[in-house]
Formats: sequence, structure tokens, C-alpha cells
Amino acid sequence: MRVDILTIFPEMIQAVVGCSILKRAQDKGALTLAVWNIRDFARDRHRSTDDYPYGGGAGMVMKPEPAFEAAETAMAAEPGRRPHVILTTPQGRRLDQDVVRGLAQRDWLMILCGHYEGVDERIREHLVDDEISIGDYVLTGGELPALIILDAVTRLQPDVLGSEESVVEESFSEDGLLEYPHYTRPAEFRGWNVPGVLLSGHHGEVSRWRRRESLRRTLKRRPDLLERAKLSAEDARMLVELKEEHDEHD
Ligand code: SAM
Repeated sequence: MRVDILTIFPEMIQAVVGCSILKRAQDKGALTLAVWNIRDFARDRHRSTDDYPYGGGAGMVMKPEPAFEAAETAMAAEPGRRPHVILTTPQGRRLDQDVVRGLAQRDWLMILCGHYEGVDERIREHLVDDEISIGDYVLTGGELPALIILDAVTRLQPDVLGSEESVVEESFSEDGLLEYPHYTRPAEFRGWNVPGVLLSGHHGEVSRWRRRESLRRTLKRRPDLLERAKLSAEDARMLVELKEEHDEHD
């Protein structure tokens, strides 16, 4: 997968992409990353990337010319192909694992990081294919959202995660549930014990316990997910029991 990030703070992106899975993915050739400084495409004396809003009012607006030129220069790197161009904005569709899965299947993403009041509307209308929000809150700029999108799509690329890092069982994966709780050594810490079943070595029991805890967590924290989760008859039976337990404790 290729990802181009267009930003006025490339150092924010560079500070993160040299570590952990993002570094590993680049080293393995699973991710080709290009970071473009929009300021390099500003033509005026002050190399400005923003200007006052027409009609007045507070704040500044990102100018169209440098953003278009940065994007078009990046696109020229791969003639005959066009990236899926994403604008980071709190007004976009909300990022979740389904959206991430869809984006991860594309072979080229371009992510534009906004600042100030946001971008000139002509950028949204004539350059951008998709607008993504990472949640209902407002950040200072699009760099952190761009990094979140980048991280989430990169870890779904084939061969990026090691066998010890499963994407199959984790939260929001295929079955749509939250993941079960995890424990590691020591078996007893400050008098708090790991559930005995996990020490039993009985794989069937461990799987059943994990499934039950996954359902319990989802029921308690995110019951909305159960409506579209993939549940077996056994899951449905466990859920009835868990709901009864839940009601008894109320
Ligand atoms: N005036 C804009 C509005 O009300 O929608 C908010 C602009 S915000 C201060 C500056 C930039 O940060 C945005 O252009 C966007 O790139 C980024 N940003 C802020 N919050 C975001 C969010 N929740 N998701 C994605 N991007 C966000």
C-alpha cells in the first residue's frame, strides 16, 4: 500500500512513522509512505498556506493553490493511477473498523491534514474523495487523525503483524465483539489471581471462557455492537445467561 500525507507539519508525522509497526511495515515493503510539506508549494513571499476567510469572521482558512499543487505533484509520482484522497475533518464520516477495513483494501491513499478553520471548500469539492472524522471532538490539526488512519490501515496489510499479534480475535474484528480480558505472568500479583481456567491447559475450556467474557464485556460496555455481531446458537444461550446474571446484580 502507498500512503501520501500532505501537511504543514511534516515533523509531526515523521516523529511517529519511524517506530513500531509503521516502521516494520515500511522495512518489509508493505507500506510506502511519502510525506509532503504543503508549505513547499506556497508561491508567495511569505510561503503562506492560509488566508483570511471571505465574508469575515474568526480564524484562517487553508488556501487551495498549495494543497492542489502538493497533491498533484504527489500524484505525478505514479502516472496512470489515482489515489483515494481523504480529508481529515470533524465533519467527515466517523472512522470505525469497518471504514478502516475498506480503506485498507485500497492500494493508494492520500491524506490531507487540515488546520485553522479548515480548508477552502474548493479543496473538498474538487480534490477530495472522502472525508474522515476520528470522533466527535475538535483537534488542532489533521496530523493526529492522519496518523490514526495510517496506523489502523497499515496493521491490516498482509504480513505486517507477526503471528503473535492477531487481528482475527481483537475487538471489532470479524465477529463484531469486544475482545476478552488478557492476563500474563505472574499468576498471582498482590493477591489478585489469574482466573484458574486460563492456567488449566484445557483449550476447549479456555476458548469457552474467552467467548463468554467477550460477550459479557460487549453486553456491559457496548450493547449496541451485539445487534450486528455474528453470534452462534451457543453465543445466544450464553448471552441469555449473562443477561440474567446482569439483571440479578442490578
Ligand atoms: N472549523 C472546523 C469545524 O468546525 O469543522 C474545525 C477545524 S479544526 C480546528 C482544524 C483541523 O483539524 C481540521 O481541518 C481537520 O483536519 C483536523 N481535525 C480536527 N478535529 C478532527 C476530527 N475529529 N477528525 C478528523 N480531523 C480533525
